[in-house]
Amino acid sequence: MRSLRDRCARPLRNLRLSVTDRCNLRCAYCMPEEEYVWLPRRDILRFEEILALVRVFAGLGVDKLRLTGGEPLLRRELPALVAMLAGEPRLRDLAMTTNGVLLAEHAAALRAAGLHRVTVSLDTLRRERFRALTRRDDLAAVLAGVEAAQRAGFRGTKLDSVLMRGVNDDELEDLLDYARAAGAELRYIEYMDVGGATRWSPEHVVARAEILERLRARYGAIEPLREDTSAPAQRFRLPDGTTFGIIASVTAPFCSSCDRSRLTADGMWYLCLYAAQGVDLRGPLRAGASPEELAERVRAAWSARADRGAEARLAARHEAPLLSIRSLREDPHLEMHTRGG
Ligand code: SAM
Ligand code: SF4
Ligand code: SF4
Repeated sequence: MRSLRDRCARPLRNLRLSVTDRCNLRCAYCMPEEEYVWLPRRDILRFEEILALVRVFAGLGVDKLRLTGGEPLLRRELPALVAMLAGEPRLRDLAMTTNGVLLAEHAAALRAAGLHRVTVSLDTLRRERFRALTRRDDLAAVLAGVEAAQRAGFRGTKLDSVLMRGVNDDELEDLLDYARAAGAELRYIEYMDVGGATRWSPEHVVARAEILERLRARYGAIEPLREDTSAPAQRFRLPDGTTFGIIASVTAPFCSSCDRSRLTADGMWYLCLYAAQGVDLRGPLRAGASPEELAERVRAAWSARADRGAEARLAARHEAPLLSIRSLREDPHLEMHTRGG
């Protein structure tokens, strides 16, 4: 079978699966508002429905699946879903991105259920700053989660840090030192204007070039690593062998090799992080569509895909947040915490 390609010859390989739009943090770059419109509970896919859709995607080439949210660990019985997904042999990689608050509680069960890898989002190592940035006093729980993941046997753990100028960019080096000591790999993420980032401004973005310059000044020559071109992070090595990544979605978008798409907790499928519209898969699934019919819907949409959202944003030299609070209220699917990051 010829592999499925979009209009820019990009394959369908990576699926980010949001299992809930709820979150137990309120990160300033993702959920800065006081109130949110949530997806109706009756619309949230049951585990069997998620598995049915994942099988359709696996049949069309998806071999990497990442559980996300909102906060995925808020979804009840998540290890049971992991066990169901781990039984799908076409998935080579089964990972999860979490804010880590509940990870200490669940790490062992997730590992036993067959989860391969975890990524923990961690933007600061200072308690007061964590509280200001997330509106919750949970730094100790997150750090305990990182340690628990290591103890549970997870390897290849990543720590993702969104850098914001004047907020946490003075911790650039401390975060790297912490990750190294914790046996994890740090990835710096440029602050994006996507979804609910209604307080975004270009001055807050710390660009890849600046990150590299600062690390070079502190640690010496930095060697870029050459590898898998579809991965969002470009990886580098310090003179002492420490590796780290940078996801430069703002200043150096990687749309040309983007093989990822996103399924929300209520079964809307988005072909780009910036896409205004999604493809409804819950409707047909609940109306009794066969796996072949669902596959045809996915195939048709992917074949027509021409999205290059981050490149378009860069070309437009954006100066202000992309979305208004009003448009986010009207369609919560536009939110990063709904779409899964
Ligand atoms: N709650 C989980 C977490 O925080 O890891 C998973 C969902 S969260 C939406 C996924 C990722 O999106 C996180 O690593 C977060 O830092 C990132 N993210 C959210 N808003 C962002 C923004 N405006 N710019 C860059 N990354 C962002
Ligand atoms: Fe923060 Fe993730 Fe929750 Fe967004 S979804 S507020 S990034 S923890
Ligand atoms: Fe892929 Fe869209 Fe992100 Fe570009 S902006 S890397 S096309 S999801």
